[in-house]
Amino acid sequence: MVPHQFPWEHDRRYNSYAEFFRKQFGRRIQKISVDAGFTCPNRDGTASMGGCTYCNNDAFNPSYCSPAKTILQQLSEGAEFHRVRYRRATNYLAYFQAYSNTYAPLAKLKQMYDEALSFPGVSGLVIGTRPDCIDNEKLEYFAKLAETHYIILEYGIESCYNRTLGRINRGHTFGQAQEAIRLTALHGIKTGAHIIFGLPGESESDMLAEAEILSQLPLNNIKFHQLQIVKDTAMAAEYASNPEDFLHFSLGDYIDFIIRFVEKLNPDFVIERFSGEVPPRFLAGPGWGLLRTDQVNVMIEKELEKRDTWQGKFYYSL
Ligand code: SF4
Repeated sequence: MVPHQFPWEHDRRYNSYAEFFRKQFGRRIQKISVDAGFTCPNRDGTASMGGCTYCNNDAFNPSYCSPAKTILQQLSEGAEFHRVRYRRATNYLAYFQAYSNTYAPLAKLKQMYDEALSFPGVSGLVIGTRPDCIDNEKLEYFAKLAETHYIILEYGIESCYNRTLGRINRGHTFGQAQEAIRLTALHGIKTGAHIIFGLPGESESDMLAEAEILSQLPLNNIKFHQLQIVKDTAMAAEYASNPEDFLHFSLGDYIDFIIRFVEKLNPDFVIERFSGEVPPRFLAGPGWGLLRTDQVNVMIEKELEKRDTWQGKFYYSL
């Protein structure tokens, strides 16, 4: 039997990002990507050299987004880009996605983020970073901003297993991710996480067990991606020589997996995405063709309905 109301107080069968935002802001909010020219300690030798084995940040930036332009210029061009496509959006979140967006001295971060927040219509910041690129001083600055703006720090966790994190050369442990998320939440700042399914050496039951592990973290939002092996990466070479080490999900298998995962996931977590999309021309491994993430979402929602299940159906708080 379907409950009349889920804990997130709408009728969709998962704690949807779109609905969360509608409730939080009362209107449509558009994210605008900004590339502020940050680098990454996992590429410059601080944590390691060479980066994560799957990393190819260069391929997917929107056209308006380039560190050669000022932050205000990128926001202005991004707002125009989205205005043409989605006329209703008049409020924005500046999305700092490329590389590690807290990997700079505090004075530089202040200058950049204050600039972004000065753009008309920007209600907050979404800041992608690594667990080893944050400290108390930076968190205090973001906590101050969070008193008046929507501020979320999104951490790349990718896997809860240190053996996987070592193999993909993440340059940090799961313990560091847990600690960074805990500290961020303690400062009253929203926390997000990014997880990849299908990393080498992980079985389906390893990945399913992550639902319980992640559910214990003080997270607000979460994003999932199926692994997509991108050309010209170390992982593409690894896949070419050992394809049997990778569990590739067909679309049907992924939908089945994600539903079983979400059933065990903390219902308080807002799910931002279930899957990722990389243009097929960039792929060095199997993919799902030209299928868009919103089409995958529709299929997942239909399957949740068909199975009469929902996010957190089998979640038990420890
Ligand atoms: S942390 Fe991000 S930017 Fe740095 S190497 Fe890994 S995927 Fe690339």
